[in-house]
Amino acid sequence: MQCPVIRLRHLPPALTVKPRLARLLLLILLLLLLVLGCGYAGYYLSERSGIRDLAENGERQLELNARAVESEITKYTYLPSLLELDYNVTRLLQTPTPYRRQLVNDFLEGLNQRSGSLAIYVLDRSGRVLATSNWRQASSYLGEDLSFRAYFQDAVQGKPGRFYGIGSTTGEPGYYLAHGLKRGEQIIGVAVVKVRLDSLEQRWQRARLEAYVSDENGIIILSSNPSRLLKAIHPLGPNTRERLARSLQYHWWALEELQPLSRRSLGNGLEQVSFAANPQTQPLTGPSTYLEQTRPLDDTPWHLTLLTPLHDQKRATFSHALLAAGACTLLIVLGLALNQRRKVIATRLAAREALEKANNELEQRIAERTADLQASNQRLQAEVRERQQAETTLRQAQDELVQAGKLAVIGQMSTSIAHELNQPLAALRTLSGNTVRFLARGALDVASSNLHTIGELVDRMGRITASLRAFARRGGDQGEASLEQAVDAALLLVQGHPGFNTLILHRDYPQGHADVRLAIEQTRLEQILVNLIANALDAMSAQPDRQLWLSGRDDDTRYLLCVRDNGPGIPAPVREHLFEPFFTTKPGEKGLGLGLTLSASLAAAASGSLTVHHPPEGGTAFELNLPKAVIRPESSPHA
Ligand code: ADP
Repeated sequence: MQCPVIRLRHLPPALTVKPRLARLLLLILLLLLLVLGCGYAGYYLSERSGIRDLAENGERQLELNARAVESEITKYTYLPSLLELDYNVTRLLQTPTPYRRQLVNDFLEGLNQRSGSLAIYVLDRSGRVLATSNWRQASSYLGEDLSFRAYFQDAVQGKPGRFYGIGSTTGEPGYYLAHGLKRGEQIIGVAVVKVRLDSLEQRWQRARLEAYVSDENGIIILSSNPSRLLKAIHPLGPNTRERLARSLQYHWWALEELQPLSRRSLGNGLEQVSFAANPQTQPLTGPSTYLEQTRPLDDTPWHLTLLTPLHDQKRATFSHALLAAGACTLLIVLGLALNQRRKVIATRLAAREALEKANNELEQRIAERTADLQASNQRLQAEVRERQQAETTLRQAQDELVQAGKLAVIGQMSTSIAHELNQPLAALRTLSGNTVRFLARGALDVASSNLHTIGELVDRMGRITASLRAFARRGGDQGEASLEQAVDAALLLVQGHPGFNTLILHRDYPQGHADVRLAIEQTRLEQILVNLIANALDAMSAQPDRQLWLSGRDDDTRYLLCVRDNGPGIPAPVREHLFEPFFTTKPGEKGLGLGLTLSASLAAAASGSLTVHHPPEGGTAFELNLPKAVIRPESSPHA
């Protein structure tokens, strides 16, 4: 069966996206989305609050300007009714004559000038103009039939006539206020005042306010922006259009529709509209967006609409969105930095904890090791004490053994010594007797020679006893011995041994080695040599040819002395028991079996050794290995 994991290994590296990289990309994407989200939230909130502020401000502006429009309109409402009080006007309406007409014309002209209106005129009940303030002008209304005007029709029925329209004669737009002039209860004519309201427009333009007033037909009759004048704010049906055309209210204007590029409801009666920029006045700017607020005007069917530009607010909204996105980015960077710092601190803490843990473990291990070491130290100290005690015991036993060995050797050799001393004593007796006799005979030369021999014999006896005394003396481990002196002393001590006289001695150690000094007490070295030479003599006692080789070898800090004989050698079964105490092959009282044991222990006490060899040519060889004495500089006499 094939394992899918194995197949994955053969994928090209580009297809195996590392999980860490994928996580990083995902994180970057999320952060980008977060930044965009923050930017959008900033945009949305800023737009909402900005529009709310603009709406509140616009509401105030709308109220103020509505009051201004209302006061401008109502300023003239009393004026046509005043004509009712004029006697000449009433008489003209009752009985029109050229004289009365002229009187009223003059009166109306003066009144018009003072009131600042466009025109003031009086119509009879049929709607014909009887007198007018503009009687001098070519475009005078005088004699015109204005019965088709709505304001006339309202006023002649006793209703206040209110009308905005474009003059059919002058083509000039204006606001018409008409009033039915009564005589008693009967309406005998209509007085009309035409006023201009363009001062409002100029005021708006000066204040840089975008506003317009639409009349009952939805036609803009006043506008801060002239391009919007006489445009319909909503579509006009064909019937309405026909009616308006017939009434000539707006003269022959096409009454196009004011078409915004877009219209969006913002809730609470607020609307956002955008208009294309005027290509003549603003060729380079794009469409303008406004907040639209409308309010009906009191005492008229008109509406005032205020357009508050939104471009500043839009700019602020964009700035706020950018700020929010920037703040979000800053917070993210801060968060990432803090996270990084937290990670670093966590890593440091973990490292410190690990270090403390390792430290504690180390301290614990050290404590355990110290305890172990203390325990083993105590054990070692106890062992050292035991060893020291054992060594002391051993040393005592060894000393006693040495002493016993010495005594044994002395006992063993006493016969030989007695024999050795008896011989010179006998010789002394004989020589002294002979000397007495030679002195009696007067043979002084012979007597003198005998006395000389006697002296030599006494010296020899003295040496024998001196060696014996030194041998019996208890010595220490420390000391220094002269090899040559030790060999001489040993040979002197074994002189009385059977077979010594016929012994052929070979001193094979080099000349310079004769005065070599060894780190062992002198008498102990002598004792070892006495044992080895005496054993060799014993072994060779049965043979006529007795030869003994003493050879030495220098080995750096040690010296090796070999004592070899040409005796019968040591049989194999005997070899393994040689250094056992009280092992001897010698018959009767002759052997004690302590010689080699003692010699080996003396050598070991001086940090040396004694070993046996069995040369192939026959005989036996003992090798004594001892440290050489350290040559110290001459010590001062006061030291
Ligand atoms: P002892 O001399 O009293 O017997 P040792 O300890 O000196 O005690 O010697 C032990 C034995 O070793 C001797 O009895 C002898 O059999 C053997 N021995 C020692 N030296 C020699 C030698 N040079 N040749 C042959 N045998 C030896």
